[in-house]
Amino acid sequence: MIIKPSIRSNFFTNSHPLGIKKMMDTYVAEVKKLDKFQGPKNVLIIGGSSGYGLATRLTLAFSAGANTINVSFENQGSASKTGSAGYWNNLFFQDAVKDFNQTHLDFNGDAFSPEMKQKVLETIQEKFGKIDLLVYSLASGARKNFETGDLIRSAIKPIGKPAEGKTIDIKSLTVEPLTVEPATEEEVKNTVFVMGGSDWYDWVMTLEQAGVLNEGFKTISYTYVGGKNTDNIYRSGTIGKAKEDLEAAVIKMDQVLKPKYHGEALISSSKAIVSKASVFIPQMPIYVSYLFDVMTKNHTHETTLEHKHRLFKDMVYGNKRLLDDLGRIRIDHKEMEASTQKIVADLMHQPEDENFLELPGTKLFLTEFYQINGFSVPGVDEEQEVDLETLITKYHNEKYQNV
Ligand code: NAD
Repeated sequence: MIIKPSIRSNFFTNSHPLGIKKMMDTYVAEVKKLDKFQGPKNVLIIGGSSGYGLATRLTLAFSAGANTINVSFENQGSASKTGSAGYWNNLFFQDAVKDFNQTHLDFNGDAFSPEMKQKVLETIQEKFGKIDLLVYSLASGARKNFETGDLIRSAIKPIGKPAEGKTIDIKSLTVEPLTVEPATEEEVKNTVFVMGGSDWYDWVMTLEQAGVLNEGFKTISYTYVGGKNTDNIYRSGTIGKAKEDLEAAVIKMDQVLKPKYHGEALISSSKAIVSKASVFIPQMPIYVSYLFDVMTKNHTHETTLEHKHRLFKDMVYGNKRLLDDLGRIRIDHKEMEASTQKIVADLMHQPEDENFLELPGTKLFLTEFYQINGFSVPGVDEEQEVDLETLITKYHNEKYQNV
């Protein structure tokens, strides 16, 4: 099969496995250059197949020597369908660590389901005994309510008044004006249900009650605070309400983890990156392009991997933790520098910038978006036939289980 990019509503409906293999080689070469540190031994990552979860998995496996279980929800490839990028990330991650004296397992299916929690619990009991860290890095547009059977969808919308701005249509490479109408109360509630803290809490409490948390156990999830440039669509919008709920789960979990395990629940406000989830949020492509432009020029730009590596080495397991007055880890401090935010704001509010698509930051944003899906990767000939069946036979093994 010859695989060409297929994009719908800023979402890739396919992926290029050979490009993803090369990207994994690049990540592995990058992480091998980063410092080693003392970290957790056994880690469970919910959402470890792409974006921040994958960067977390690479950091902990390569720099801290951790064993990992990853739960993600990806479309599996077949002879006639490429499957999603995360499917191949999981297979190629396994290939990259196959000679390590570590255990790495993948479960593919719905992390929200009781069945997945049970399967993972049994696997922890069987393979690890106990875990030292649970990372909750899930980003989803929908969550099944297992009590009623309903599928609840999130809605990324402002609250109270419309959000006016621009976005990039990545397929046509045009900048489009955009007005997003405010959410209804129901949409706010649904977004909190899908992207808030209740499922993270359920995971930790299920494992706690089963007695598989180690002394010193930690759990962490990733929020986004941002500033005025993203406020109307993000922090003051439906997703912001969900993030408030996620942040509040820390307090509830700490009440159990601190006294019983001398452990802790943490929330890190992480910087804006290019991921499947972030590109989908209206206005973010414009903000992230300008941000990359400014931060690259300032030499404060970090790759997704560098960002997560610094988080775990310095702020989760090191002694350089930066906290705000709500107790959140502010690894995003470089993005949030007042001067950076001001330059980005000026750029976002200037009249039409004809060169926008040519800016180095925009090009970096677009290139990364293609590359996380395996396209536009140097050294990969996209005119070449790809034999998906042979790749699946070679890389898909018993470490990857569908639940
Ligand atoms: P992503 O889309 O790259 O990854 C999401 C992960 O969740 C994937 O592994 C996917 O398979 C998994 N997933 C989705 N639905 C699932 C389900 N039902 N069951 C099991 N797994 C499921 O997203 P990301 O951008 O890395 O986001 C991860 C977290 O980081 C989110 O909480 C997000 O809000 C947060 N965050 C992201 C940014 C950003 O700029 N991308 C910034 C700050 C915080």
